[in-house]
Formats: sequence, C-alpha cells, structure tokens
Amino acid sequence: MNLDQLYICFPSQKECIILLEEVRWRGLPTCPYCKSKKQTSSKTQKRYHCNTCNTSYSVTVGTFLGNTKLDLQKWFKAILLITRSQKEISSRDLANEIYVTKDTAWLMIQRVRKARTDYTEFLDGLIQAIDRGNYKL
Ligand SMILES: [Zn+2]
Repeated sequence: MNLDQLYICFPSQKECIILLEEVRWRGLPTCPYCKSKKQTSSKTQKRYHCNTCNTSYSVTVGTFLGNTKLDLQKWFKAILLITRSQKEISSRDLANEIYVTKDTAWLMIQRVRKARTDYTEFLDGLIQAIDRGNYKL
C-alpha cells in the first residue's frame, strides 16, 4: 500500500469501520462487555445494541482506538507511518502528515506503541488488512 492510495481505498469512515469489524470480529459483532453475539444494529450509525446486557457499543470500544474523535482514516495512516518507519517517527512529522496538532500526534504515537504489547494480534491484523488496501478483506 502506497500511502497516497489510503484515501482511495478508504474513502470514508464507513469503509474503515467495515475493515475494523472484519479484523476484530470476522464480521460478526460481539459485545465487548458480555461477549454476546445477540445484537441489534443501528440503522443510522455503526453502533450495536447488545440484547443480552442492554448496552450499546461500536467496534472501537475496548481497543486502542476507543474514545477517539479523530477520523479513522487518520488513524489508519498514522498506524502505517508509525509502524513502518525505521527510526521512530517524531510527533512533528506525524502531525504534518495527517494534519493534527503535535500534541494529538504525540498521543497517537503513544497509543500505537502501547497497542504493540496490549493489542498485538488486533494491531497486526489491522496493519496487514490496511496494507492490503481492501476493506472487504
Ligand atoms: Zn452485552
């Protein structure tokens, strides 16, 4: 994957979410709180209502991408930039690449580094999937 192609392969948040759902759940949504697979999907947004424990969730809940207001496209690009660079990418360089503040870039770098140990399998799967550039897997 050439980074210039990222926004062509993932033109909106929607394609990013489809990819995340494939990587995390193999396409079958699972409640992060009680592991139930019984859910009702929301028509308007990519959220699910768990019919077992009565909570709602999205695919990023309980992952290193949880509680983020940033576009997932920016995260995808950041993940590739952070994990591909031979020497560690600086927050200034990352900020310039994805148009966020230096502070935001710094926080993203910390999250991705931590994900390497805390969410190894998910992160590896995600990197491979983004690299393949096909959100439908
Ligand atoms: Zn549940």
